[in-house]
Amino acid sequence: MNAFSDYPFDERIRRAIDDLGFTKPTPIQSQTIEPIAEGRDVIGIAQTGTGKTAAFVLPMLHRHVQRDPDAENEGPRILILSPTRELAAQVEDSIRELAAHVDFRVALLLGGVPYGKQLQALKDRPDAIVATPGRLIDHLQQKNTHLRGLEVFILDEADRMLDMGFMPAIHQIISFLGKGKRQTLMFSATFPDPIARLAARLLNDPVRVDVSPPVRTPEKIRQGAFYIEKVRKPKLIRELLSLPNMTSVMVFCGMKVEADFIYDVLASDGFKVGVLHSDRGQKERTRALESFRNGEYPILIATDIAARGLDIKDVSHVINYDLPNNFEDYVHRVGRTARAEADGEALSFVTPGDLLTFQKIEAELGRPIERFDFEGVTMPWTGSAPAASPAASPAAGGGRRGRR
Ligand code: ADP
Ligand code: MG
Repeated sequence: MNAFSDYPFDERIRRAIDDLGFTKPTPIQSQTIEPIAEGRDVIGIAQTGTGKTAAFVLPMLHRHVQRDPDAENEGPRILILSPTRELAAQVEDSIRELAAHVDFRVALLLGGVPYGKQLQALKDRPDAIVATPGRLIDHLQQKNTHLRGLEVFILDEADRMLDMGFMPAIHQIISFLGKGKRQTLMFSATFPDPIARLAARLLNDPVRVDVSPPVRTPEKIRQGAFYIEKVRKPKLIRELLSLPNMTSVMVFCGMKVEADFIYDVLASDGFKVGVLHSDRGQKERTRALESFRNGEYPILIATDIAARGLDIKDVSHVINYDLPNNFEDYVHRVGRTARAEADGEALSFVTPGDLLTFQKIEAELGRPIERFDFEGVTMPWTGSAPAASPAASPAAGGGRRGRR
């Protein structure tokens, strides 16, 4: 499928595609829409920001409009699981956009918010549920819904959903599924082998579509790093955020306390900044994300809770204030920039203690990360971390500048 017109989508779906301005399918969409619509199990692997959501939503809607409109739902037929509330809400938004001209009902089940609206959505006999695992299990145990008639089981960010943190919940949810024939779909930008082996047990003769090139992050993301003492990080982040090209920046921290600390430092310096991590209330989380999305706050400090899936327009920079522990988290974090047609820059702070991790990430990435300096703040790249590029970085504008 090279064009959306190559596929017999219903006119109502075609119109929604046009409304969104999608002119042609992305590579992952070209290769997965048909097997999914045929009912096959599919593993879809493609770089961040390349339209994986529509790759499973479009065939799901295509099948939906072909159903006999008088056929009764034996409970929800489609379940989409997401690792975070923010991502689940975003997936639900995408479904609503693509289903704008179709009668398709979705219930969004998230933790941290009241039950009332969710109970109503479940009473309305939804076709699909989009959920985070914990709240879904609550509803299942309270018998507010059931999954006996489930036909399609979708794991977005599948490698995350199958890792040790989520696996017990996933198994519990599977125990609620009916014994009937079921289609399982898994999507991610990363799919490490040990997880793939676990996934195989949940899949039936899957089609594996991997359209990610050997370098796992989009070419369009310019990637650089600073070598820095831990105590100098607050200084560097202030300097960087004062540069005029830092128009929309996500700053990732390793720990919640660190995120709160940077938030306080920057807020008291007069930066317009929000913070997103799991110890903040859901209202606060939603507000932080919305203010960042609409540009009111050009800076968002976050933990890895914001690393996956979030599709925010025109994020100019991702800054790893703390280097992530592993390659997958690095790929997802930097993938918050350069989405769809846009480009962007990702900058990592590397302390002497991070050097080994940094070298491992770089090796798996399959492409060098540029070595940047920021005069008077960073350390020279020496010894085991040879400088790969000329000293002053364009990112840093060649040196210090006035703070706002
Ligand atoms: P992924 O899940 O692969 O990271 P998303 O599904 O979040 O990516 O999509 C990233 C962005 O690309 C979204 O803003 C989405 O609306 C847009 N998009 C999806 N499909 C297309 C397409 N065929 N043409 C243009 N833009 C698209
Ligand atoms: Mg996604």
